[in-house]
Order: sequence, then structure tokens, then C-alpha cells
Amino acid sequence: MASNIYQHCPICSKPILYSERYPRAVCETCYDKACDAHGRKLSFSNVSIDGGFNAVVTDTQEEYQSHTCYVEGVECWADEARFGGIVLVVMPKYLFSRFQANEIESLHRELFKVLNISQDQLQALYKVMQQEFEVGGYPEHTLPRNIFHSHDESFQKRYEEALVVGVDIPSLFERDDNISSKKTVIIFGQDPLRKSNKRVEEIGIATPYALHLKDCREKLRNTRLYFDLIKVLLDAGYRVYLTDISKVWVSEANCDRGIPLSKQDYARFIQVLEAESKIFEPVAVITWGQVASKAIKSINLNVKHLEFPHPSGAANGTWRKLMGKPATRENRINYWRQEVFAYLSRL
Ligand SMILES: [Zn+2]
Repeated sequence: MASNIYQHCPICSKPILYSERYPRAVCETCYDKACDAHGRKLSFSNVSIDGGFNAVVTDTQEEYQSHTCYVEGVECWADEARFGGIVLVVMPKYLFSRFQANEIESLHRELFKVLNISQDQLQALYKVMQQEFEVGGYPEHTLPRNIFHSHDESFQKRYEEALVVGVDIPSLFERDDNISSKKTVIIFGQDPLRKSNKRVEEIGIATPYALHLKDCREKLRNTRLYFDLIKVLLDAGYRVYLTDISKVWVSEANCDRGIPLSKQDYARFIQVLEAESKIFEPVAVITWGQVASKAIKSINLNVKHLEFPHPSGAANGTWRKLMGKPATRENRINYWRQEVFAYLSRL
């Protein structure tokens, strides 16, 4: 069987040329059927010979501001192709935080060492986030501020006075494909930074980079890139467990500038992190940014540690130096794919 020469259009099943990079690409006939949510036909093009992506409503030539489109009612994603032109792929479906029973129990036991939250509360939070996973907008969830208690008296006072406090619960992503034996990769972020110009008494509970929200995964420029990086792993069949080094972030009393955690509390978070690694038994851990990298280097997780600059725009200079080329979205994703699989494909 020449299965390495052909793949099948995921919409009409017609055989098309095999593409390692775009296994979910649709055929030319289906490509020509792309329309928006109202059924208006869409046309795509590059911005220039250097690539870029441009979409218009075919009849009116009105600019179409999204990459999401539909072919025969199936949600697709149009984007610039690696070597020019446009590629249209069927959006794979992902699952959010579908922990195994023993995993959620163990995870709760560890989180409970730093957050005063019951397993029922934790599972209820994950459940509501699962329900919101494909919904647009930015729904918020809060818990009382006493969910965290510092082991340092003077820090506890600053915690109570803080203008705003952030708490993120870890998230787990995987492709929705009925495969239950996926290997796990852990990505460590820094902390649940929040912004606010006035005091917020309750704590906004989210997940790292709020990737449980569709608009954060697909619309917001920075966080969309973070999920694009994660998707590289998901689409290759890995589970990605995403967690922050510090699960709590605390601001000054009079502004939303962050303050360092007390030593005792930081040490507690490091212990949780070591336990998380034991629960999920990753084949590799990845850090984004120096703060996370230093924290992981300070402990021994007995697993390969792959370090990357933070994917946010603030680290563009570091990315440029590392890659030896402009820190475009495409270049970063390709570099990430190459580096991560240089290790994972050897396993
Ligand atoms: Zn087709």
C-alpha cells in the first residue's frame, strides 16, 4: 500500500498527496467550498510573496477577520502554508482536563497542600471549564481570598492587603481521538499574573494563559501562539499538562505590580511541582522563560528538561538570537517543532 504517498481529505475522503505537516488538510474541491458562519463564500490569499494571510468574503471583497471557516458545516482553519500559498485544515477537537480518577485524586491531594479547596470544588471548576471550552468570550470564576494561607506571618499580611491575587489550576490537553495511552509532556509556566487597577477581593481562578477559553486559544495574539505551540504536541498524540511553578501570584497593596512570594511558600510550591511530576510521569518537561527554567534546574525531576524562551512578544530578542532569524510566529513554531521532536522522536 502506498499509504505514505496519499492521505485522505478529512471531509470528502478523496485521496490527496501525503503531507507530514498537514495531515488534516482538505482537498482542492473542499477548499473551494470554504464559507463563513453565515454561508458566505470566502477567498484566501497570501499578503505578499513572503507569505501572510488574507481572507475576504468573495462576493463583496469585504475583509474577513478570522481564520475559522466552514466546509460542509465542518469547522476548518485557513492559514498561510509553510512554503507559500494557503492551507485549509479541519480543526481537530481537543479535550480539556479529562483526568483519570487516580490523577485527579492525587492532584487534589497535592494542590490541597497550598490551596484550601475540596476535591468536589476542584472537579466542579474543571467541569464548568470543560463546558466553556468551545464557547467564546471570557467567563470568570472566583473563589474567596482565604483559599491560600501563607506560612509566613508578614507575607500573610501583604497577601491580605494585595490589590489583586491570581490563582491558576493546572490544565491538561489532548486530542479527542479515543486513545487512552498517550505519553505526557509537562510545560511549566511562571505564575498566574493578573492585571487590575482596583482592589479585587475575591480571587479569579483560571488556568495557565487561560487556555481553557476558546478565545484565548484562537483569538488573542499571544495566547493563541502558546496554544499553537501546545497543538504541535497534541497533534502528534501527546497529552500536555500545563502548570505554573507558583500557583499563586500576589500584587502590591496599591498597584498590580507582583511581589515575590515568601521563601517558605515558594518552597511549598516547589514540593507540589515535584509531586505533579510524579503523578503525570512525563516523558519530558518543558519550561517557558528563565524563571521557570531556574526553578526546574534547582530540583531533580529525573526527566529531560527542554528550555525555551518565554513565547510572549517580550522575549522576541532572545528567540531571534536563538534561531538566527526573525522571531515570527511561523519561525518560532517551526523551531519549537524541530527542537521538541529532536528529543521526543528518539524515545
Ligand atoms: Zn475534500
